[in-house]
Amino acid sequence: MSLFTFGKNSLIFIGFIILLNACSPSATDDNVTPNPNIGSSNSEHLALGNPSNAQTDINAPTNYLIEKEEFVLSYNRDRGLANWVSWHLDLTWRGNADRQDDFRPDTQVPEEWYRVTQNDYRNSGFDRGHLCPSADRTRSVSVNSATFVMTNMMPQSPNNNRETWRFLEEYSRDLLDQGNELYIIAGSYGQGGSGSNGGTTNTIAEGKVVVPSNTWKVIIVLANGSGDVSRVTNNTRVIAVDMPNTQSIGNDWGKYRVSVDQLEQATGLDFLSNVSTDIQAVIEAKVDSGPTK
Ligand code: MN
Ligand code: MN
Repeated sequence: MSLFTFGKNSLIFIGFIILLNACSPSATDDNVTPNPNIGSSNSEHLALGNPSNAQTDINAPTNYLIEKEEFVLSYNRDRGLANWVSWHLDLTWRGNADRQDDFRPDTQVPEEWYRVTQNDYRNSGFDRGHLCPSADRTRSVSVNSATFVMTNMMPQSPNNNRETWRFLEEYSRDLLDQGNELYIIAGSYGQGGSGSNGGTTNTIAEGKVVVPSNTWKVIIVLANGSGDVSRVTNNTRVIAVDMPNTQSIGNDWGKYRVSVDQLEQATGLDFLSNVSTDIQAVIEAKVDSGPTK
């Protein structure tokens, strides 16, 4: 029997039952355990967790999930910035594509919101600093181009972006060449940085983009393999850094290493939430002391 053989009254009745269920606040109250992956796909980029339980929900403007083939991020409309960008990096993402430099607004930002443009950082004294680096996405022209959306940028002091931050990016790719795959989460927090115009700047783009006070990154290092979440152990190398977004930053990224716990405290995020809490407790308390080049 097809739906169309129901009488008009039956359809109204079914509609009423659906309405009743939707209005009932207790309908799903049995499920009290928060699922960190609600609203997200099984993206490889979130295999270790969704650090802020971001959802693609226009009513969550400060923690709005944007998923791409190349990376996943939580966007904060009120800062004009990502809270975090998360990506898996292994050798399959690397290739010979040239840097595309096609900075542009991200059309996955809801059209009701302001979409930061490629011109919004102009003359600000801050770089359009990549979170997921262009050089981590060189498998194809389209994959590289994806890194140039403005939701993947932060106003970064030139010395931070071009030296300290870049040296860590380059070291990450060295780790790839040594037989590893990486999970990387990067973002910014706070307000007020110094760029090439001097002084402290709190916002750019007529207030639409916050200049963060700090830039941070978490890198989980695994030997190449499969079943990645289950391979994270108490001995897994985790590199976390918290850097000032200032021109006076030193260029040795290793000096800015902190524990993941410190970063969780500073950002309010929960990293590695898909890893058992016992293992998180061990690896998040350590400060990396491994090689820096
Ligand atoms: Mn950069
Ligand atoms: Mn955690």
